[in-house]
Amino acid sequence: MKIVSRKEAKAQGLKRYFTGKPCKNGHISERYTSGGHCVDCNNHLHRQWIDKSPENKRRNLECIKKWHENHHRTPEQRRKQYQKHKKKILAHQKNCVKNFTKEERKLYKKKAVENTKRWRVNNSEKFRLQRKNKWVKEQAIRDEEKRQYYEEHKEEIEAKKKVDREIQDQKTKDNNSRWQKEHPEKNRLKSLAYLARKNGAEGSYSLEDWKYLCNKFDNRCLSCGKKIALTVDHIQPLSKGGSNYNRNIQPLCQSCNSKKRVEATNFIPAGTFLFFPSIMNNQISYRGSK
Ligand SMILES: [Zn+2]
Ligand SMILES: [Zn+2]
Repeated sequence: MKIVSRKEAKAQGLKRYFTGKPCKNGHISERYTSGGHCVDCNNHLHRQWIDKSPENKRRNLECIKKWHENHHRTPEQRRKQYQKHKKKILAHQKNCVKNFTKEERKLYKKKAVENTKRWRVNNSEKFRLQRKNKWVKEQAIRDEEKRQYYEEHKEEIEAKKKVDREIQDQKTKDNNSRWQKEHPEKNRLKSLAYLARKNGAEGSYSLEDWKYLCNKFDNRCLSCGKKIALTVDHIQPLSKGGSNYNRNIQPLCQSCNSKKRVEATNFIPAGTFLFFPSIMNNQISYRGSK
């Protein structure tokens, strides 16, 4: 604070002056030009007077209310004023805090918290709206910041996204090929199921069903009886509207399967009782990944 003597202040028409020397209570603060009293002391005494009785408190509030009525400003004006004098106000507030003892500060803080809480309870709708508006406003700022950041780092971000995508694609590819290597039988059935779906055939069967069927006939071709690699043959061919349910498949070797072509020949001996595992497991569809 600039040092101004009482005489100079009077000459300049200032309401306050500042000597830089402490008052009798030790405040290094401004003094009133009119009476030479310490401003901090005055504030302290005023506070004490307010706390003396509820009547004093009421009178003080009334006084403040009247002052605000005479000095009415819109919220926009008030905000502008605050921004203009922000440093001064904050410094003043900090200075004011010094005038109170530790206990007083604690008490006022507690009171302020209680007042806020009470207000929020009594004006819950208004409070909710205020909080929502604040959030919306802040969200708009955040969005704008994000957008700006994106605009400034567009190429960088897009490049990173592309790399990430490529890495993810490669990972998926690797996983798929590993799964295919680890489960060759399931993979074969998966592609068969895909073909059946593509042909418009309904139904599906599980790997266990197929294994059960092969085991049931001693892993032999139902047509020639040879014990060689078996392929899935649809009794009623898919091209002729046959389904892909387990009751429409039979194990045949590759050459018999090719010879059969599009005829609907059932090589399963009549009266054979088939109890497929999928019925036991309630495993209705085969999608390959199980
Ligand atoms: Zn003082
Ligand atoms: Zn055969």
